[in-house]
Amino acid sequence: MKRSEKLFAEARRVIPGGVNSPVRAWKAVGGTPRFVSRGQGARLTDVDGRSYVDMVCSWGPLIFGHAHPGVLRAIADAAARGVSFGAPTPGEVELAREIITAFPSIDKVRLVSSGTEATMSAIRVARAFTGRPGLLKFSGCYHGHVDALLVRAGSGAATFGTPDSEGVPEAFTALTRVAEYNDLAAVEAMLRATPREIAAVIVEPVVGNMGVVLPKTGFLEGLRKLTRRFGALLIFDEVITGFRLAKGGVQELTGIAADLTCLGKILGGGLPVGAFGGRTEIMDKLSPLGGTYQAGTLSGNPLAVAAGLATLRELGPKSYARLEALGARLEERLRRVLRDRRIRAALHRAGSMWTLFFGVDRVRNFTEARAADTKAYARFFHGMLERGFYLPPSQFEAAFLSLAHGEAEVDEAAEAAAEALSAS
Ligand code: PMP
Repeated sequence: MKRSEKLFAEARRVIPGGVNSPVRAWKAVGGTPRFVSRGQGARLTDVDGRSYVDMVCSWGPLIFGHAHPGVLRAIADAAARGVSFGAPTPGEVELAREIITAFPSIDKVRLVSSGTEATMSAIRVARAFTGRPGLLKFSGCYHGHVDALLVRAGSGAATFGTPDSEGVPEAFTALTRVAEYNDLAAVEAMLRATPREIAAVIVEPVVGNMGVVLPKTGFLEGLRKLTRRFGALLIFDEVITGFRLAKGGVQELTGIAADLTCLGKILGGGLPVGAFGGRTEIMDKLSPLGGTYQAGTLSGNPLAVAAGLATLRELGPKSYARLEALGARLEERLRRVLRDRRIRAALHRAGSMWTLFFGVDRVRNFTEARAADTKAYARFFHGMLERGFYLPPSQFEAAFLSLAHGEAEVDEAAEAAAEALSAS
């Protein structure tokens, strides 16, 4: 840990908190964040030479694990042709086609460089299309650090107790309404109270950002019906779930068509990419066709597009069957550990994403997520780390499996959990 400690001390002098994204600082679990020197398959190695099974996977993008040969080759080939042009390239058209094929609700899609840009741009075009100013989001859902969406936000904002960020004037969030996840009646009441005000309802259709929380039966269908009835757009933020739970995300699994979809993470194969897309009539509001401005110097960057294409083209039904089998195996083993040791915890899983909430029986919304025992999570995190498993350093983040993980890693993780939970 010596090198990580030294680097972290140096980093704190020149980077706020020593990190370029807050949760990386490990404040919620304590200790020194490990500086990473390399990753290979399911494992990463820190600068002190310790190796871990990685269950963060760069917070979701690395569905094939680290340094996947096909992705590396695609990046190297693209780089050899030039890294950025700021002019259209053939790969962007191919990637757009891949997205549209996976998501039938998308007729047209625009590439950006992060999930934050995707949601920011989606709400702008939703406002332009509907001519309405308001937004409805859910407490504990995180949609990037967009001013209007940093209201009762999950992920790092929840981790640090700042779900409403400083530096965001009240005027910027005055148009954002917040409902509790899984509470359709609240959504209906809000839409009814201001019938022509809400431009869009934005939701993580399976939540990753308060830890994994599942929509209850009928919740997403209910949102679809209510938004139609009140003339608001439904935005599915599938930045995590897109290409992870199925190639076509939660929309493929449920058959629900969102009006706008936000994508990121896996779409860039580990390089910075986001995307937002939807029906032609909505997307054609964007400049240069329409008057809604949205742009980016590095949007559609050739390296990111190449990494994304290499990733998406290799993902098929077998990939998702495999991820589900691995996830189910981990769940079954962890449940046994919890039962044997009589540990009160809620284990939530959707495919290859999972969270163990300590000290609670179930979590259906942010209020229930916040009731979880975060100290017990911190002990679990460190117990797993000591045993060579790298988990998200916060209760309010999803853990991920990748296609580079195997039965061995899953079984060893469950054994490590059994030990860690006995010791703590
Ligand atoms: N939406 C969701 C659902 C996310 O999980 C995230 C990031 N974790 C974002 C948006 C923002 O993406 P980015 O960090 O790439 O800006």
